[in-house]
Amino acid sequence: MKKAKKILVSGGSIAGLTLAYWLNRYGFEVTVIEKSDGLRLGGQNIDVKGPAWAIIQKMELGQEIESATTTEVGIRFVNTKNAVVAEFPKDNAISMTQEIEILRGDMVNILYHKIKDSITVYFGDQINSIHELEDSVEVTYNKRGKETFDLVLIAEGIGSTTRQQVFGREIKFDYLGLYSAYLTIEKAPTDSRWARWCNAIGAIVFLVRPDNHGTTRLCIFFRSPELGYEKLPIAEQKKLLIQKIQDVGWEAPRFVKELEQTTDLYFERVSQVKAPHWHKGRIAMVGDAAYCPTPITGKGTDLAVTGAYILAGELGQHKDYNHAFGAYENIMRPYVNKTQKRPPGVPRLVYPESRFGVAVINAIFSLAGSRFAKFITNLFSKKKAQPKEEIQLPEYQDA
Ligand SMILES: Cc1cc2nc3c(=O)[nH]c(=O)nc-3n(C[C@H](O)[C@H](O)[C@H](O)COP(=O)(O)OP(=O)(O)OC[C@H]3O[C@@H](n4cnc5c(N)ncnc54)[C@H](O)[C@@H]3O)c2cc1C
Repeated sequence: MKKAKKILVSGGSIAGLTLAYWLNRYGFEVTVIEKSDGLRLGGQNIDVKGPAWAIIQKMELGQEIESATTTEVGIRFVNTKNAVVAEFPKDNAISMTQEIEILRGDMVNILYHKIKDSITVYFGDQINSIHELEDSVEVTYNKRGKETFDLVLIAEGIGSTTRQQVFGREIKFDYLGLYSAYLTIEKAPTDSRWARWCNAIGAIVFLVRPDNHGTTRLCIFFRSPELGYEKLPIAEQKKLLIQKIQDVGWEAPRFVKELEQTTDLYFERVSQVKAPHWHKGRIAMVGDAAYCPTPITGKGTDLAVTGAYILAGELGQHKDYNHAFGAYENIMRPYVNKTQKRPPGVPRLVYPESRFGVAVINAIFSLAGSRFAKFITNLFSKKKAQPKEEIQLPEYQDA
């Protein structure tokens, strides 16, 4: 069998660009196709930790990532009068704020600039149909005709359409009962370097986080049965969000105004992707497309970066792509399974519906934030500084 050389990566975000970097480093000829007209730079903070941080350092991007962190100092839980119920500074073991918090868009930008001159990138197009031939894969794009590759790697995120063409009904979505919406908003006097989390009636959570661009990042989560909202046109999604939040208090009027005019809304259902196989013939998938763990785990970026590193590394090592795909799955699958486990009651219990429920959850946050509880959790802070090894990263030889 001839070793694969020419590879198409579909999706130009965290997984796709990391994959492109490592494939290029192992001597493959890489094309990335991204359906948006440019990089998608929206979203809030993502954590770069554990194996992802080790890989970023191998890519010699550690300093660049560190200097682009959001400067968030911790998280405050506030009630709808904006009174602080509990606060967890970054160094507290259970704080959501991690050592390296970077805007998702900043990380995408950094990855893109690291690799863009060594690969081909098509923006504003996508795979329309895909067919495996005897010794290649033929793709037909929406706009630029046909092209053949030795391998096609899907990194299209949770809503991947090429994945559905290739793997179809095999793919299961474990919906967690939540929708999430992310948007960039103007900084207001109430915003600071502290993230603010506010539970509101109607099973809604607002999460406001500082960024390093002079703006603020808003996330709205709400509990709901699965109703296909993520497939609605953006104008409908905006209407729905406004309807949901307009009467729930806190800074909702400010958010409504922002929703009316935003151009970077990212609206998704919070679902884990469960796929029995991550490869079929000459096609494989990586990142959220294959094993989205949801933002609730805080591990989406980690899995995407680690999966990309291992997939590229195995392809670099094996002459037979089948062996490479098999090894990638063998190494990654236990880590993905561990990451996708979630504690009972999460996220349902944290999103109460009624005024009483909101008061109860705030009382719980307050208890967790009390001096005594902080003292106890800080005993475990060392654990946060030195997390135990989650996956043994293989070392691969450069081309
Ligand atoms: C705009 C945006 C905002 C986000 N905000 C947050 C956030 O605030 N917090 C958080 O935890 N996670 C967020 N995420 C998800 C997060 O990026 C991922 O969970 C994680 O980083 C794994 O990345 P990924 O590359 O696998 O998937 P994604 O980051 O979802 O990237 C998939 C990429 O593929 C592209 N794409 C999709 N379909 C096709 C297609 N058919 N052909 C070609 N390209 C395609 C998309 O435009 C996107 O660039 C966001 C994702 C996006 C796209």
